[in-house]
Amino acid sequence: MSTSEQTNLPAERLTTASGRPIYDFENTQSVGQRGPLLLQDYLLHEDMAHFNRERIPERVVHAKGSGAFGTFTVTHDITHLTRAKVFGHIGKQTRVFLRFSTVGGEAGSADAERDPRGFAVKFYTEDGNWDLVGNNTPVFFVKDPKKFSHFIHTQKRDPRTHTKNPTMMWDFWSLHPESLHQVLILMSDRGTPATYRHLNGYGSHTFSMYNAEGERVWVKFHFKSQQGIKNFMADEATRMKGQDPDHAQRDLVEAIDRGEFPRWALKIQVMTEAEARDFRFNPFDLTKVWPQGEFPLIDVGMLELNEVPANFFRDVEQAAFAPAHVVDGIGFSPDRMLQGRILSYPDAQRYRLGANYEHIPVNACPYGFRNYQRDGQMQVSANGGSAPNYAPNSFDNVVADPAYREPAQTLDDTAAAWYDRNAPGEDDHYTQPGIFYSSVLSDGERERLVENIVGSMAGISGEKRDLIINRQLCHFFRADIGFGLAIAEGLGITIKRENLMHAM
Ligand code: NDP
Repeated sequence: MSTSEQTNLPAERLTTASGRPIYDFENTQSVGQRGPLLLQDYLLHEDMAHFNRERIPERVVHAKGSGAFGTFTVTHDITHLTRAKVFGHIGKQTRVFLRFSTVGGEAGSADAERDPRGFAVKFYTEDGNWDLVGNNTPVFFVKDPKKFSHFIHTQKRDPRTHTKNPTMMWDFWSLHPESLHQVLILMSDRGTPATYRHLNGYGSHTFSMYNAEGERVWVKFHFKSQQGIKNFMADEATRMKGQDPDHAQRDLVEAIDRGEFPRWALKIQVMTEAEARDFRFNPFDLTKVWPQGEFPLIDVGMLELNEVPANFFRDVEQAAFAPAHVVDGIGFSPDRMLQGRILSYPDAQRYRLGANYEHIPVNACPYGFRNYQRDGQMQVSANGGSAPNYAPNSFDNVVADPAYREPAQTLDDTAAAWYDRNAPGEDDHYTQPGIFYSSVLSDGERERLVENIVGSMAGISGEKRDLIINRQLCHFFRADIGFGLAIAEGLGITIKRENLMHAM
């Protein structure tokens, strides 16, 4: 019986990848009925060889992810702040792709891990694709990109045991006091979101916006879940890891398939250049938030996810985000982590997907592109056809457009010095974590934060155990004395309050 008879579908001819129709797809050519196989059965090689190459290099971070297409709609006018076409007028709609992810685990790891969640949005604008590559937390563990690979190593597997190792993690965190803010958020209930629909997204970095007059402001982006925030308690997350390692992927697909399209309200915080110059802490420090009382959230628009990609690998696995991809009207800032990611993200995508990663459908600008880059592995675009591949030339009329000139940024410092990232003025690692603990969390959330930290720190082992624990306890005490005492007590360490003042 042929395939079309089995399925009642109209017959479509099966071919090799090069298009040659196939006569038999059930059996490999052999010498007689019971003899060995023939090397000349090319289809066997083609199928097996392609299968061997199905996996592309996994992302070192954010390997496990879920994604969907959707729409961004402007609800409020911010054209006085930015000339970005995506914010052109109220009601304007732009197609988007959003990828959620965990950070530390491999592609097959569980969605319910305690981990930040990636929240990366690609806006397909007529001025090019704009990638806002953020997380579900407004801050990060480090503020200098030189620290990034070292930090990530501590979140991955121990080189000898090949298991996660709390000693590495807390050793790193205790040696980097600037990580405290993010550590607290990670260890809070929001470290284990119930689904991808029930978390907020943050651009995290400070970006800039400039308007038609060339006036620049500094900006932070916030996406507020319209589904509300829902988190797993630690034991629920542990259970879910075994019950359904893909629960967040399943939830996202099923919700969209039911027609329950998840939505996030996009809001921004704005700081003028003058305010930034005089601000009491570094507004470009990724370990700090801008207090919303001083820099209120401004409504901008609504993002809705409404389309599950037909093929996960094609669109989700091959989705490539890079903070380097900004568009006219949106610019960078001196945020050091942003500067580092401008370099490292496109580099990661070139390694993972090849030099032509921007031509893969999910990454391609639907409004087209025109440049003089040619060739390279997997060149599947028109590759410039027969047009000139150098510039300037006497044959085409491709020109740079001066209307897109970005206003200059004033830098008022000496370059090429290794400034201490935690020098005086840059070293308040404790005020915001203290506010988070004492003013943002409820009593129950505080108790669970302590429990989660104690549970994690109990895993610190080896000869440096006491050193690491004591160093980290000092950070907790500096944020809030009661908080530090609660953790010390949970770890079975007796500390006299009167001794604390000397230690700090
Ligand atoms: P606000 O009271 O104005 O804002 C507090 C923020 O905390 C809100 O955005 C809220 O987000 C968020 N939040 C509430 N509960 C939790 C939780 N359990 N875990 C994590 N975030 C939570 O205060 P400030 O702006 O002065 O900031 C105070 C502290 O709040 C900061 O030090 C920081 O730790 C934390 N925070 C601040 C943010 C900011 O951008 N300013 C953003 C997120 C956290 P929502 O209401 O949407 O749930």
